[in-house]
Order: sequence, then structure tokens, then C-alpha cells
Amino acid sequence: MTERAAFPSSPFIQRSDARRDVDVVVIGAGAAGIGAAREALARGASVRVLEARGRLGGRAFTDQCGGVPFDAGAAYVHYADRNPWVGLAAELGIALEPHRGWGRGVPFRGGVRLPEQDRQERMRASERFWQLLYGTSEGRDLSLADLVRGEADTVGEAARRYGEQAIGEDPERIGVADLRQLWEGPDKTVPGGYGALVAAAGAGLPITLNAAVRRVDWGSHGVVVEGPAGSIRAGAAIITAPLGVLASGSIRFDPPLPPATAGAIGALRMGALTKVVLAFDGERFGWPSPSDLYPLGTGFNLEFWPFNRDIVIATIGGTQARDLVRLGEESAAAALLDVVADIVGSEARRHVTAGRLADWVSDPCSRGAYSYAPPGAAGARAMLAEPIGGRLFFAGEATSGGADTVGGAMTVGGALIAGQIAAQQACARLRVGEQASSV
Ligand SMILES: Cc1cc2nc3c(=O)[nH]c(=O)nc-3n(C[C@H](O)[C@H](O)[C@H](O)COP(=O)(O)OP(=O)(O)OC[C@H]3O[C@@H](n4cnc5c(N)ncnc54)[C@H](O)[C@@H]3O)c2cc1C
Repeated sequence: MTERAAFPSSPFIQRSDARRDVDVVVIGAGAAGIGAAREALARGASVRVLEARGRLGGRAFTDQCGGVPFDAGAAYVHYADRNPWVGLAAELGIALEPHRGWGRGVPFRGGVRLPEQDRQERMRASERFWQLLYGTSEGRDLSLADLVRGEADTVGEAARRYGEQAIGEDPERIGVADLRQLWEGPDKTVPGGYGALVAAAGAGLPITLNAAVRRVDWGSHGVVVEGPAGSIRAGAAIITAPLGVLASGSIRFDPPLPPATAGAIGALRMGALTKVVLAFDGERFGWPSPSDLYPLGTGFNLEFWPFNRDIVIATIGGTQARDLVRLGEESAAAALLDVVADIVGSEARRHVTAGRLADWVSDPCSRGAYSYAPPGAAGARAMLAEPIGGRLFFAGEATSGGADTVGGAMTVGGALIAGQIAAQQACARLRVGEQASSV
């Protein structure tokens, strides 16, 4: 992937600057890194992207279970009315579909389908939960669990389900101030895979795979980034490695990051949204495509036959997801098969053909699903997005841009925007496109 024909270089840049190999080095080739690289190249910068994995897309990844494609990470194009992936998909000729809408899921308990009245009651409880989340505002930041304290049990369950299934975390740990910043809007889906869309946007960029950055030296002129791809000197580094990776310390910064940035990394946390998938031989047990089933008390949300494919995708989040991941793929698939068999009958066991676990929790390239802010930490995203020394720019779903744009946090759209903003800032700082930088 060395072509860059689609991204013209500026005649104003001195490529021969002896102190740097490229203007901008981008760490990570997920949505943010791809967005940053495209933006910097479009502005005339010379760019090199270093990616730890052997593939593009990061947490947007279209994997397979028994040969059937599914999105192991991001699947929904959230707030599609303003999500830049909608335009990019059109540009790339990739089809999107409107999402059928949430709230139609069929609740089960102990394998028994609950009456319609129960579903209606849960819908009302959800509405009450949304009203509490968006319709009220306390002086201090609360946890999601505290927000619903004293409410009916069903409202507490709605908060737990939202925490686990949307944020990947237990409601006791999630701060509501951060959630209130998030953009709302209609969702779209990508039949060909959100991961495939993100990877398509990265095709042709100057990306080196299997090149995990281990050290970023930003002590003197510009930056020097070190890893298996060697030492690369650049005017600026855009760092899009996930928050969990930054918090693990697996990338060393010399000198250490300023206290405000280090504090922001320490204040935010990674949730643990996880997917388990089963493939079947074509038997659909009477359920149409697609069907959402909520087996209450199991921690799983189930989607039967997405895009008319012979798979069941289960999502699970928070402590239950961490416990499941520790058991490994085989046990996770067996646990899901038990839940499916409770609902459709033991014949499920005869028709299952494969199982898959998407483990973002122990993956050293993600170390969690996506970021959330505990109570009191809502300002940490904007803090992390603050450029450092005119040459380090953190970008990704955890920053989602900066003070005014954190609404896209946790999402692929927000990551792309964050990457674009970081590239604009880096190029402005290096005066790319105007004249050669003296940095
Ligand atoms: C299960 C799950 C479901 C989700 N569902 C949705 C959804 O429906 N809609 C949505 O919008 N979002 C969803 N998300 C969140 C979304 O996937 C992320 O917000 C987004 O993909 C993050 O993009 P990013 O570029 O910030 O980070 P990443 O995609 O993680 O990219 C960072 C890149 O950095 C690389 N890297 C790590 N360490 C190094 C290193 N040392 N050197 C070089 N490279 C390194 C990684 O390999 C990775 O490719 C989901 C996530 C998960 C896990």
C-alpha cells in the first residue's frame, strides 16, 4: 500500500528537509488514522502511517464466522444525518441501508417469551430512562446507576441494558455528563460491513502494516517514532492508538507526556463490549430476518439472521463480557448456544456449524471496546485532544475532535472527524501548503 495517486502533493513542501522523513507520521490505521492520513495528504503533506496489526480498520473490522461475514466491532453508522462516513461510503460506491429502528426486540426470560404487555412496560421504562438522562441536569456528574436510583426496577434494568449494550460497562462506573454530550440521530447499516467500508477508505494510503510503534521521542525538533519499521522522523505525530493502548504504557513517550494529557488518559476508561457469533446450516427456527431477541437475565442481546445471513450475533458488555472473554472462544460460543437453545429448542445444537468470539478486551491493539468517562471525567476527552508542543496530536474515538466536537465520542464517525481535525492542526502548525515549515 504505497500508492498515493489520489492525494496530490503540494509543490510548496520541501521534501528534502534533512531533519524529517515525512511531514506527518500517523500511528494507527483505524478510522481516525485513515481520516488523518487522507486529510493530511489532501492538504499536501507527506505522510506515513504505521499500523500494529496486519490489517486496516482497527475496531471497525468485518470478520467471518463459518465463512459468513459480520462486523466484529462497529456495525451501525450512528447519527447518520451528520456522520461523515455516509458521504465517504457514497464516494466509494458502498451501499448503506437505514436501520430498522430500536425497541422492537422480543423479551424472553428463562427461554420463555414474555407477553406483549411486558415489552410495552419495558418500552415505557426506557422512555423514563431517556427522560432522566436527557431531560434532567444535576449540578454534579452522577453515575448511570445513581441517575436511576429510586426509580422502578424496570427503569434500573433499562439503565443497565444501555450501559452494558451501548457503552460496554456496568452502570455504576459510567458518568452521565459524558453521555449527555453524545450526538443523537438515525442509524444506518452497511450490508458489506462497516469494517470493509473503513478499510476501503484506507486503500492506497502510505500505510505500513505490522509496525507497532514502541517509542515516540518528541524532545527536540519534530518527533522520532520507533518500532519494527525503524526510526521515522516527522514534523508531527498524530497518535490514534486506542485509549486502552495509551493507558497500558506500551508506547513510551520521551519526554513523558505533560500531566494534563497523562491525567486525561488516566481519567477515561475502556468499556468491554463483546460479540459472540454462531453460524447455522440454514435452519432459522421460525424467526424472520432480522429479529432482535432479548433473553433477560443472560446479559446477551441477540440478533437473528442479520442481512438474511445464517448467523446469530450476540452482544454482551461490562463485567459479564470480561468474564466471558476470560473463558475463551469455545466456552463463549457454548454459552451462547445454551441461550439460543433455551429459546428455539435443543435442535439448535444440531444445526450450529461454527462459533466466533470478538475479543477486544485482551487484544493488545485495543485493550477494550471503546472509551467512556466515569463520573467527573467528562472534560478529559477535550483535554486529550489538546495538541502538545505543536507536534503531538492525539486523535480517535476517545477524543472525537476537541472541545466542541466530543459528541462523536466512542464512534467510527467521531474517530474520523478527530483524525481530520488533528491533521488540519498538524498541517497548519507545519504550515504545509503555505511554505516549508521551519519546525
Ligand atoms: C464490539 C464493538 C462494537 C462497536 N459498535 C460500534 C457501532 O456500531 N458504531 C460505531 O460508530 N462505533 C462502534 N464501535 C466503536 C468503534 O469501533 C470505534 O469507536 C472506532 O472504530 C475507533 O476508531 P479509532 O481510529 O479511534 O481506533 P481504532 O479503530 O482502534 O484504530 C487504532 C489503530 O491503532 C492501532 N495501534 C494500536 N497500537 C498501536 C501501536 N503501538 N502502533 C501502531 N498502531 C497501533 C490499532 O491496531 C488500530 O488499528 C464499536 C466498537 C466495538 C469494539
